Amino acid sequence: MDLDHSPADEAFRAEARAWLAAHVPLAPLPSLETAEGFAAHRAWESELAADRWSVVSWPTAYGGRGVDIVRWLVFEEEYYAAGAPGRVSQNGINLLAPTLFDHGTQEQRARVLPSMATGETIWAQAWSEPEAGSDLASLTSRAVRTDGGWLLSGQKTWSSRAAFADRAFGLFRSEPDTPKPHQGLTYLMFDLRAPGVTVRPIGRLDGRPAFAELFLDSVFVPDEDVIGEVGQGWRVAMSTAGNERGLTLRSPGRFLAAADRLADLWRTHADPADTALRDRVADAVIGARAYQLFTYAGASRFAAGEPIGPESSLNKVFWSEYDIALHETALDLLGPEGELADTDWSEGYVFSLAGPLYAGTNEIQRDIIAERLLGLPKGRR
Ligand SMILES: Cc1cc2nc3c(=O)[nH]c(=O)nc-3n(C[C@H](O)[C@H](O)[C@H](O)COP(=O)(O)OP(=O)(O)OC[C@H]3O[C@@H](n4cnc5c(N)ncnc54)[C@H](O)[C@@H]3O)c2cc1C
Repeated sequence: MDLDHSPADEAFRAEARAWLAAHVPLAPLPSLETAEGFAAHRAWESELAADRWSVVSWPTAYGGRGVDIVRWLVFEEEYYAAGAPGRVSQNGINLLAPTLFDHGTQEQRARVLPSMATGETIWAQAWSEPEAGSDLASLTSRAVRTDGGWLLSGQKTWSSRAAFADRAFGLFRSEPDTPKPHQGLTYLMFDLRAPGVTVRPIGRLDGRPAFAELFLDSVFVPDEDVIGEVGQGWRVAMSTAGNERGLTLRSPGRFLAAADRLADLWRTHADPADTALRDRVADAVIGARAYQLFTYAGASRFAAGEPIGPESSLNKVFWSEYDIALHETALDLLGPEGELADTDWSEGYVFSLAGPLYAGTNEIQRDIIAERLLGLPKGRR
């Protein structure tokens, strides 16, 4: 196995690095979980898009550079190493776009993707409901047939970015009387400012409001906004979820950069005699590299035409637990200083605690690993 990048990949890396060095804002943008920060991050998306850096792996027709998945990983490594802003359009780019590439129509791709690439349209994911999180198939929000489209009603919750986003994609029950709960679901896109939509922000632990719950009351959606076949929404959703856990939500670049920052913190803050802490820093550096290599192996299989598959659950459990351990190590290194609110490390720590929950909880991922990768008997449900 050749673990080195090709000269062409390294040339791409150099081009990305030079662009980022010239463009990444010197001061961090305000939090994208606030109205002001959301607008600033939207403007950053348009700056990235102006030079085709917002969606490097997409075809050029939609604003990308048409590069393969390995170069996308290389770009992500450079992006995080440069300390560039978080991606406010991540739900659209990482979740909806792959779904449209796999299941959408040509017309949908041409209509939806260009404004996603520029940050003009920011998307929210409307899957979870108050009684349907881990057991997503038990969702009860409805899509009822009407002239030329569908009427959506129900309640969605825990929708990241939805307080300030423009549009959302979600799953709705279009056939109420199917024998199994994951049948009769339809995957639709809708406008968050359409008549009948109420967006109610949910305050986070840090008081920032971008999270929201959505109340839908006979919201009209035209037929052209159904993704995939009517009634086949579960199949479409599972391809979105595989992408999210396996690759797109947490690329290794983020952890390689964080592990580098942690090693710097060790050099500036540590007591060299504290070998226990030193070992935890070393574990974090090794973990980031292991995750990088594991992801490259998966990406190579994907590039060769294999589906992402249940291995994505291994990535999800690994990065979510790794992120918590890395931040705990940083806070222990910082001592009392680490307890101060509003530092990158303390904010990162609080957010890392949500990692085992979002994108499907780790208990559910472990069930998938046990049943589908290890062939163990089904657990009790
Ligand atoms: C930061 C954050 C961002 C999020 N963003 C979004 C978003 O943008 N869009 C969206 O739609 N949703 C989003 N979510 C929701 C997220 O997907 C759900 O919280 C998650 O799927 C768990 O569902 P739940 O909260 O209903 O918990 P539950 O499903 O009620 O689970 C509670 C606990 O029981 C365990 N459990 C449940 N069933 C089983 C089982 N069969 N076996 C073993 N253990 C089980 C779970 O693992 C968990 O520990 C977000 C959540 C967080 C925390």
